[in-house]
Amino acid sequence: MSAPSENLAIPAALRPKPLLLRHLPYFIAAAIVVFAAATMRFDGYVLNILMQATTFAVAVFGLTVVLGLCGQINLAQAAFFGFGAYVVGIGTTDYQLSFWLCLVAGALLALAAGALLGMSTLKLGGHYLAMVTISFQQIVTLVMINAIWLTHGPDGVSRIGRPALLQSQQSFLAFCVAALAVIGYLVWHLPDTRLGRAMRAVRDNELAAGVVGVDVVRVKVAAFALSALLGGIGGGLFAGGFAYVSPDQFSFAESIVFLTMALLGGVASPIGAAIGTGLLILIPEWLRFLKSVPGLYLAIYGLSVILIIRYMPDGIWGFVTAGLDRFRRKVKMPAAGLPLVLAPAMTGGEMVLEVTGLAKHFGGLKAVDNVDIAVRRGGVHALIGPNGSGKTTTLNVLSGLYNATAGKVMLDGTDVTTMPPHLRAAAGLGRTFQNIRLFRSMTALENVIIGAERPGNTLIGRGDEAALTQRAMAALAFVGLGPRANELISSFSYGHQRLIEIARALAANPTLLLLDEPAAGLNSSEKLELHELLKRIAAQGLTILIIDHDMTLVSEAAQHITVLNFGRRIADGESMAVLRHPDVVSAYLGTD
Ligand code: ADP
Ligand code: MG
Repeated sequence: MSAPSENLAIPAALRPKPLLLRHLPYFIAAAIVVFAAATMRFDGYVLNILMQATTFAVAVFGLTVVLGLCGQINLAQAAFFGFGAYVVGIGTTDYQLSFWLCLVAGALLALAAGALLGMSTLKLGGHYLAMVTISFQQIVTLVMINAIWLTHGPDGVSRIGRPALLQSQQSFLAFCVAALAVIGYLVWHLPDTRLGRAMRAVRDNELAAGVVGVDVVRVKVAAFALSALLGGIGGGLFAGGFAYVSPDQFSFAESIVFLTMALLGGVASPIGAAIGTGLLILIPEWLRFLKSVPGLYLAIYGLSVILIIRYMPDGIWGFVTAGLDRFRRKVKMPAAGLPLVLAPAMTGGEMVLEVTGLAKHFGGLKAVDNVDIAVRRGGVHALIGPNGSGKTTTLNVLSGLYNATAGKVMLDGTDVTTMPPHLRAAAGLGRTFQNIRLFRSMTALENVIIGAERPGNTLIGRGDEAALTQRAMAALAFVGLGPRANELISSFSYGHQRLIEIARALAANPTLLLLDEPAAGLNSSEKLELHELLKRIAAQGLTILIIDHDMTLVSEAAQHITVLNFGRRIADGESMAVLRHPDVVSAYLGTD
């Protein structure tokens, strides 16, 4: 499978041109649109619609980030929009402050509120998160209505100021369009940044994200805060555009409108957000002629939105891109370049992992009970035992997915017993899962890049995208999947998905690699390939703790074996001696 290495020389021009340069055509097109917005002759009605669409789209971009990229629900976007709008409204009128100052202050206030809300609630997740954002939204609305001394209450704030340079509504619109173009560009490229990849990882598989080194809570808070920031900017622009704000413009119903816009257009991309926003503002205008028949207008409006979402679950843009397949961000196939080097840290002592008195109880069930394991540097150590004996639970406690009930875990001299998964990854722990956990909406290469990005991977400088890609390609080539780097996970067989998961772990250059039944579900030829692969990994001196049922593999590959039964360690030592141990024989074959 592996190509001869002379074909894999690194091209000189591997480092890509800066994004801004590559996307000059985008900015030229945007400049033309801005110029048109500034110079075309609109009547007041069209101007208002354009102003609304532009400022709303900025807020909907926020939902692209939090919901589309990070998979977190935010039903309070209108509240953040309101923060931006009210700070500009009150600031430019009651306090006579500069519009720009108020715009920035409002956006920052929204950012802070978003971060706070995120920090206090994101650990809840799912329905609870939705409920809390709704409550927050309702509280903000109540404050807008009732804190009359500050917000002018239900009457709202009028005669809101604009910057001196952009006094006419149309010049201000042109500015908003320019802002939209810049923000849209940033949101469009967010998925390919470190933060964006982390967000997608969290959305696709939160557990795996933590284990490969993503600080899940921080990433969610960042997504929430960014979403709120865009809400605040949109709101500030909205207040300047219409010169009037009132509480009903920022109600829960408006949050639902923002959400519908995002879902309608396609929440995964800012293009979808822009399409959805435009449509949801235009449909009511198109249906205006129905307004004479009470009820009919709302019925048709609601029905058309439901139909679009029902038949295009990924939104209109998702539908279009699926149809044009591969139209989505086409990525050039990077060269595989240098072979994968595993350079396990040689700093610590003889033992890489020292587990003492480890226990994990689920209620009354002692899944792991007072287990000691010592893994020697540079060796392959097998953890075996019948089904249900606590092997996976042990690995889950080691990697921080479960808290230990008792005991201590030392990794390379560091006590990691109470660390969350991402810090253990940073300390050098890598793993694969018994049930494969890949980031399913991403390509093989992207999955492995996220592995290579592990904080603490000393082989790669922070932010060095070229080195990251290089490393990920080398890892994929190492497991024999280099030529398929740009395919989505769903197009790989089960066995190959396993290999991608191993490549993801290898790219991270871990000090200790935990493998949970890597051969499970593979056919016999795939097992042989895996066997070869493990030998090649071990030959590079990487320390491995492997769970496996295949006694041939275990006895050939591992120098040391620990045996569990009913959560207890029943044998431990040099491979051959352990496999002949009477307790081990009876645990596997039954007594006598
Ligand atoms: P193995 O990997 O050795 O087959 P496991 O570690 O998966 O075994 O399971 C050990 C025992 O712990 C089993 O009895 C299993 O039912 C139980 N167990 C594992 N995870 C949980 C959990 N999250 N909650 C409750 N019981 C669990
Ligand atoms: Mg298991």
